[in-house]
Amino acid sequence: MEKLKEALTYDDVLLTPQYSDIESRKEIYIGNSLGDSPKIKLDLPIISSPMDTVTGPKMAIAMATAGGLGIIHRYNSIEEQCKIVKDAWENFEVIGAAVGVTGDYLKRASRLAHTGARVLCVDVAHGHHKLMERAIKSIKDLLNNSVHIMAGNVATLQAFNDLADWGADSIRCNIGGGSICSTRIQTGHGMPGLQTLFDCAKTDRSTRIIADGGIRTSGDIVKAFAAGADFVMLGSMLAGTDESPGEKIVTLKGARKKYRGMASKEAQLDWRGKFSSNEGVSTLIPYKGPVEEILKDLTNGITSGLSYSGARTILELQAKAKFVRQTRASLVESSTHILGK
Ligand code: IMP
Repeated sequence: MEKLKEALTYDDVLLTPQYSDIESRKEIYIGNSLGDSPKIKLDLPIISSPMDTVTGPKMAIAMATAGGLGIIHRYNSIEEQCKIVKDAWENFEVIGAAVGVTGDYLKRASRLAHTGARVLCVDVAHGHHKLMERAIKSIKDLLNNSVHIMAGNVATLQAFNDLADWGADSIRCNIGGGSICSTRIQTGHGMPGLQTLFDCAKTDRSTRIIADGGIRTSGDIVKAFAAGADFVMLGSMLAGTDESPGEKIVTLKGARKKYRGMASKEAQLDWRGKFSSNEGVSTLIPYKGPVEEILKDLTNGITSGLSYSGARTILELQAKAKFVRQTRASLVESSTHILGK
């Protein structure tokens, strides 16, 4: 057997602080281009996950207001999903919506695009698949290349390049790393999240890289960008807010909201009335208030992160970043560890 490849994730590394000539954080711009055809630029490089406890009508609007992008989940009727796109499109032009790769996906894609969705996210757990090839190509053909196609998820450079060659404009990278995900436990398959980014960043295609799943802090976001991501997609960090779908639940431990994997038994039973492989969990997480505050905190952390590497843009960060491996002892030192707390 050949020597096993070592694969790293967020907590395995740190970024080395570097010389900086940045005098004010105002010199730093974290926005990024999602693509040129159609031309889409986001001032905030954060995308909310297409999950039924993350992106519904309020989150789509809140993300667009903050300069980011919401991908409206597909676990609803075509009419319901189109209504969310339509309501948001009065105010915002760049709205994203998810579709699958089977059933009514072409009709859904066409209706969403004609209602105003500029980004269609072909959303499946294992994106390196012949049904994904068929879906990307048929949506592109049907809509004459007029929408941005986001696709995924993938875990390898080969998968990234294949999806790019099939026509994806941006690709969600990471399999099995999501906070509510049990894919690696259930199937034994996956790839540490940061490693997927290191690998996919070797691509010679211009397709954008989206770091998806397993991101817990603004520090993780900065590491994802430094490793090659152009955007991050967040689930748990944006769930539990005023804008995430679902009611606030009062418990003895304080207010909570539901956050669940779309492949959890509970979500599958709700949306399909049956379940197959159970690859996610459902849980209650603390209620967090308005998502705007979270996005502001993240923006501050990301901007500060770029300044520690002496970088004014994500592109500059990618050119300058120097990673080091950290030990278990370093990981303890890296978290707040005041004595007696
Ligand atoms: P988080 O930001 O770590 O909470 O991860 C969110 C990401 O997990 C989503 O954007 C999806 O890529 C992924 N995901 C959503 N539902 C499931 C699931 O049920 N199983 C595995 N992965 C999931």
